[in-house]
Amino acid sequence: MVRFRPSLMRLPRYAPARTLPGGVVPAGSESPHGLLPKVAETLPRPAGDVSRCPDMSATALLQAIAEHHGVAPERIVVGAGSSEVCGQLLHSVVGPGDEVVFGWRSFEAYPILTEIAGGTAVRVALREHVLDLDAMAEAITDRTRLIFVCNPNNPTSTAVGERALRDFTDRVPEEVLIVVDEAYREYADPALVPDALELLGDRPNVVVLRTLSKAYGLAGLRVGYCVAPPEIAAHVCKAQVPFSVSALAQQTAVIALGEHAEVARRAALTVAERERVTLRLRGLGLDVPDSQTNFVWLPLGAGSGHFAMHCLDGRVVVRPLLGEGVRVTIGLPEENEVLLTLVASWTG
Ligand SMILES: *Cc1c(COP(=O)(O)O)cnc(C)c1O
Repeated sequence: MVRFRPSLMRLPRYAPARTLPGGVVPAGSESPHGLLPKVAETLPRPAGDVSRCPDMSATALLQAIAEHHGVAPERIVVGAGSSEVCGQLLHSVVGPGDEVVFGWRSFEAYPILTEIAGGTAVRVALREHVLDLDAMAEAITDRTRLIFVCNPNNPTSTAVGERALRDFTDRVPEEVLIVVDEAYREYADPALVPDALELLGDRPNVVVLRTLSKAYGLAGLRVGYCVAPPEIAAHVCKAQVPFSVSALAQQTAVIALGEHAEVARRAALTVAERERVTLRLRGLGLDVPDSQTNFVWLPLGAGSGHFAMHCLDGRVVVRPLLGEGVRVTIGLPEENEVLLTLVASWTG
């Protein structure tokens, strides 16, 4: 069983206010005057009254996510983006001095959120731009409480396969929480990259993170979630900032989840462009790892900053990670062409 913080085990679950459609509810300490007229004019029209607190248990959203994955709603925890869910997971298991293991480089939020939670970040070097799961398993000590497996990995775009992920999970003690972050799942080739929920969904210490910020195009609204064993979800819920997922975000996310066919269609367009751009970049002499995401990783090392400046001069914004590489997001075909032209004119 995953080791939770003793203080969390003692915490009660927050009791949401009762809802009574059409009734008077002086229970939520909101203003009784409704939306400010100016706000009402400019806000996209929400289905309910956003002058009231949102559904704290996000019932409709949990139901929609549960249906989306074919799991029980008791297994879902939502947050304002999956970054917030990362925080909830950390706050659930990490106490002072406890260790959190992740590959490096990986998602920038991991070390920040780990430190905020009072934990100690343990960064394990990638191997050929890919998570080194063997080294990550070897980095586990009796202080390790949580491991982030970003698959595919941001910013290097690479993924680990089914066998490697299963073998890794087998090596991790059951009291250590494994968080498989699948923020880019919609762009991954299902024949090469396992769906951790399908592969490991029955494990007592595996949680899968997903977000509506990437392929679902809702990054500004902040909705993410994890699918966990029900006992874990029940504890992790308690670490949530109350009402962090706004009413507008909840309603919009439900609609977005219903559009998964359109999401898949758009993701396929991006994947086709990604493959085209990768080939062109390799043709230009760059050593580009196989991407399973909506970006490519250019391991330019010391040239990364210079390349980013060169792109800026051409009015293209890329993401340099100084001394290591540059993350380039796949855009529309004409945008990608501009980037390719800039690569061709770069003299290093
Ligand atoms: C973008 C991203 C997230 C989540 O973003 P949210 O907007 O907080 O949902 C999580 N993990 C990785 C690896 C990401 O790249």
